[in-house]
Amino acid sequence: MSHYQKPPELYDGLRLHQNENTGGCSPRVLAALATLRADQIGFYPPYAEATRAVAAYLGTPEDRITLTNGLDEGIMALAVAYLRPLVGGPVLEAVVPEPAFEIFRFDTAVAGGALVQVMPHRDFSFAFDEVLEAVTERTRVVFLTNPNNPTGVSMPPSAIRALADRAPAGAVVFVDEAYAEFAGVSFIPELASYPNVIVGRTFSKAFGLAGLRIGCLVGAPETMDPIRRAVPVYSVNVAAAVAIQAALEDLDHLNDYLRQVAESKTMLYAACDRLGLTYVKSDANFVLVCAGDRTDALVNGAFARGVYIRDRSTEPGCAGCIRIATGIVEHTRRAVAVMEEVLCAVR
Ligand code: PMP
Repeated sequence: MSHYQKPPELYDGLRLHQNENTGGCSPRVLAALATLRADQIGFYPPYAEATRAVAAYLGTPEDRITLTNGLDEGIMALAVAYLRPLVGGPVLEAVVPEPAFEIFRFDTAVAGGALVQVMPHRDFSFAFDEVLEAVTERTRVVFLTNPNNPTGVSMPPSAIRALADRAPAGAVVFVDEAYAEFAGVSFIPELASYPNVIVGRTFSKAFGLAGLRIGCLVGAPETMDPIRRAVPVYSVNVAAAVAIQAALEDLDHLNDYLRQVAESKTMLYAACDRLGLTYVKSDANFVLVCAGDRTDALVNGAFARGVYIRDRSTEPGCAGCIRIATGIVEHTRRAVAVMEEVLCAVR
């Protein structure tokens, strides 16, 4: 298994290749960071208030929350906790419906688990029967993402319930809700009835805190316990702990962004229709656009004009597909203008 290939560090143009918040965080976050004192930075950080704020936002008891250094850290801790084979024990399996967030594959390998990939339907609708069939006595993690990355397609909650019912004892169903704010749907209210489900959330996307690295896992304390042991003690830094409280106090900022994302998606769909590009209707803050044999021209042409979009061609079922973030309307307008300029030159 090769290393995760981080996208190149491009910060001088329009970043639409990592599903980030193109407008950044709330100004209240900057104000809160500016109040940090030397002693706060000198001490290991407290988490009680940040945990309380996150629990209130997610509508769940505090003992169900584990703050993590980005959701990435939560996923790694979950993989280590549930997929690391016991000495002399069998290899434990992770079921991953593709195309998926690549980190699931890499973390499964790091933890010593075996990957069971489920190939996608042509329209990227959730491959429920195939995923159900892939779950066996050896399964320890089912990695789900709702809405999915890189497709933006949602899965029905009934599929999550059925997989949780089918998962063997000792296994967890992980529901990655990195993009849940954009879809307006969450499995968190059902967690009390499904103790083998863990939900992952991030504040990188809708709240624009990717640079500070904060996310969380939500689930039953007994299911969370082995994961908590795998999370480094003070992995969330004091700036992130302060920032999340400020961000959650400014839901107007969030709601304005959600509105702009919706408008941006409509604008991008219309541009694709004009340009003869197909696309997948998305419940997230990005759109998977199928450019076929125009993929390279589009990605390279946009790059040359300072607009970064992500070729997803090598992901299962995604040949000829590009993922484009849809954030601030003005940014999407610029991206569309560049797409039109590039593709008109190609024709
Ligand atoms: N899960 C999914 C599905 C993602 O797309 C991402 C971000 N690319 C993450 C988790 C990680 O988020 P964070 O920035 O909180 O580590």
